[in-house]
Amino acid sequence: MADKKLSVAFIGTGIMGAPIAGHILDAGYPVTVYNRTAAKAEPLIERGAVWAESASDAVRGADVVFTMVGYPEDVEELYLAGDGILAASKPGAILIDLTTSSPALARDIAGAAAVSERVAFDCPVTGGEAGAIAGTLTAIAGATERDIEPVRAILETFTSKIFCFGGAGKGQSAKLSNQVALAASMVGMADALSFAQQEGLDLEQVREMILSGTGSTGVLATLAPKALDGDWKPGFKVRHFIKDLGLALAEAEERDIALPGCDVAFTLYDMLEAIGGAELGTQAITLLYQEEAEAVAAGLDWSLYTAEHEHDDECGCGNDHAHSDHECGCGHDHAHGEHECCHGEGHHHEHGEGCCCHHGE
Ligand code: NAP
Repeated sequence: MADKKLSVAFIGTGIMGAPIAGHILDAGYPVTVYNRTAAKAEPLIERGAVWAESASDAVRGADVVFTMVGYPEDVEELYLAGDGILAASKPGAILIDLTTSSPALARDIAGAAAVSERVAFDCPVTGGEAGAIAGTLTAIAGATERDIEPVRAILETFTSKIFCFGGAGKGQSAKLSNQVALAASMVGMADALSFAQQEGLDLEQVREMILSGTGSTGVLATLAPKALDGDWKPGFKVRHFIKDLGLALAEAEERDIALPGCDVAFTLYDMLEAIGGAELGTQAITLLYQEEAEAVAAGLDWSLYTAEHEHDDECGCGNDHAHSDHECGCGHDHAHGEHECCHGEGHHHEHGEGCCCHHGE
């Protein structure tokens, strides 16, 4: 039974935050909301949430604070600024960051909270916009079962599974593991659909066939239909996925391990962002494999990539090499994930001549 006496502040009412806050509200908790763009909180206010003029105002007096913003920088500023959540919340408050963010930052916030008599833990989620709307997200807590007990009932208003990883930052590390798996699934979906298309197969039939076997993924089940319908609206924004893959790659680099699948996905999403795809949904990766007309119809512009990523001289090989087929010819036996050839720039993409795709065909 939910303890409806707990008051909740919710900061960040975007694609994920708005439906999550809605579930908390529907369960009978008093909810105060704040979002950078006020209009995105209006539907919640119409349903009974109280608007606050700032994050600090929202959290003052709240028993439980949720944040669901975009980037680690947003989280850092919100919690650690002089007039931020740590300073403005009351002693004893429980502060829960749902954002996919940095493990190290989560540890810093939890440490700072502990010395100021608050409790803070990271609790990113997975399940996408559909899971947020249905209230069936998976919570990934950087906390113990005991830590989450006082707020379990609130978490259960928008989740169907809660995993406790035992300590600050571990929720974020586990979520990044999830994103590493997702990265390979996204590339797998895009590669498979492109291959099937080139083989002249019925793509929906191929999708159903793969879903019936071991190659099945959630991506093929939920995102491939959007890609096949030309629906590029975000569920999950390309720019947020790049943030997540960058966080995972940075952690991996610190530990001196390679994540080649993640690296390939990062390069492809970086390319998609460079040609104007930052605000599209992650299923738009398939546009990298398509004829230019489809990319243009989705608002993309390949000339932006060519302009931004000219780096023949940096590579040193002088070749106008394509992304997917390693036609560099520079003589290096370069591992794709290490970008030895192009020094982290991603492989040069000369539109019409290469990439993963069939441009110019
Ligand atoms: P979103 O729609 O961009 O929502 C983020 C919201 O946070 C925006 O409304 C933004 O305000 C607000 N915000 C940012 N900084 C703020 C600040 N300092 N004060 C107040 N509000 C602030 O993104 P989303 O899709 O909900 O994703 C949120 C986070 O969850 C991201 O870290 C993402 O990686 C992660 N995530 C997303 C999904 C998904 O499928 N979408 C799934 C799991 C995890 P504005 O309205 O002004 O931009």
